[in-house]
Amino acid sequence: MLLVEDTRLYSFAVRSLLEGNFGLIVIHCATFAALRHELDSDTRGFSLAILDLCLADAANGEALDLVQACAIPSIVFSGFTSERRREEIMSKGVVDIVYKNSPSSLESLGSSVDRVLSLSRPQLLLVDPQAENDSAMVAALASCCFTVSVCTSTTEALSILDASQNTELVVVRNDLAEKDGYCFLELLKTRFGDDAVRVIGFSQNKGRDDVARFLGAGGDDFVHLPISPADVESRLTHTLTIHKRIQSLQRMASRDYLTDLLNRRYFFDRGPKMVDICLRQQAPVCAALLDIDHFKRLNDTHGHEIGDLVLKAVSRKILALVGEKQHLPARIGGEEFAILFTNLDIEEAYEFCERIRIEIAAIKVVVDDEDISVTISMGLASISDAETFDNYLNAADQYLYLAKHSGRNRVFSDYQVARIAAS
Ligand code: GH3
Ligand code: MG
Ligand code: MG
Repeated sequence: MLLVEDTRLYSFAVRSLLEGNFGLIVIHCATFAALRHELDSDTRGFSLAILDLCLADAANGEALDLVQACAIPSIVFSGFTSERRREEIMSKGVVDIVYKNSPSSLESLGSSVDRVLSLSRPQLLLVDPQAENDSAMVAALASCCFTVSVCTSTTEALSILDASQNTELVVVRNDLAEKDGYCFLELLKTRFGDDAVRVIGFSQNKGRDDVARFLGAGGDDFVHLPISPADVESRLTHTLTIHKRIQSLQRMASRDYLTDLLNRRYFFDRGPKMVDICLRQQAPVCAALLDIDHFKRLNDTHGHEIGDLVLKAVSRKILALVGEKQHLPARIGGEEFAILFTNLDIEEAYEFCERIRIEIAAIKVVVDDEDISVTISMGLASISDAETFDNYLNAADQYLYLAKHSGRNRVFSDYQVARIAAS
């Protein structure tokens, strides 16, 4: 990490804190010139900077601007500032401001550094009924570079994982009191799928086939205690590297290359599962198809590359409006998109589609001083009975066909057709 500080006293104190308490490698710059030189020649990248704003050769916070321009998370460590100046500094996106002149300033700086580092550390969940009684695994994990949460039962573990999206590794004691690790693995896979987290088992006693059984049940690694902290850390790091690779491959396989929206394959894989969940919970769910109007004409007039720019702009707008947390938007064909709306009834989904239609029509793609805009047509169908996923989309497709044939730039659905019939 980077320490920019011109007084000897604070340089020494902060450096001792960071090296002693956090084991960080500290590069110290006492002047703005030294900082500039360091950032020019830096090839490793800094994970954090602690900055004094008032340096002999740059007294007005220039160091902060320079460090922010390199996208390094920064904590400002300065003398007291006015409230206005504080707001100004915070608005630059710094992580924290810690004032030097208070007796607890180093302590506050330590907590602030800890917060930044734990955000960037991988998260690990230890499931160990013996965690409270001097567990060897708790001790081994204490010195690893992970943020460790601990729980003592599998039930607790499942609810922690339900609530957190960031846990990447689970370390589970295989000789659990209530259930063994194999059952727990099965529960994990059923609830979260095969690749949400990687699971490492451990046990105190060497069972006959425990490694083979644990790996056979879908676990990623298995260790026997006692084990040195260094061995634990290298096993965890290895498993985490594999996890990151799998996630990156999955990301590539599920996203559309041009627009970065979820792709057709992902939509047809995930969509039926989401519908199933909604139907079981008796929650409303609707399927929509969205097609850009006269897109061939746009390509013919402006060229394919401009067509691509328009596709990207429309996709960005769909993602910004719909998001991927509750609903499932995807590019399923050339200029065709599908959206599964969960927990919205047909009336709410219709209003949502109308908003999407209006906002897409307002997009302007600027090309050679010309504003290009497009309109879209949408078909929307509510899903209430268990049928094949294709049937739901066929229903939406029929409404899309009606929308196209009644003039384009409109949304057609059960709801809207029923309203027209009633009026
Ligand atoms: P309609 O209003 O009836 O939907 O007319 P349309 O012209 O949009 O429909 P049509 O199906 O005739 O044409 C779709 C066009 O979309 C044809 C194809 O060249 C273009 N297209 C498909 N994929 C891409 C792509 O990735 N980039 C670009 N630029 N164009 C694409
Ligand atoms: Mg079209
Ligand atoms: Mg089309």
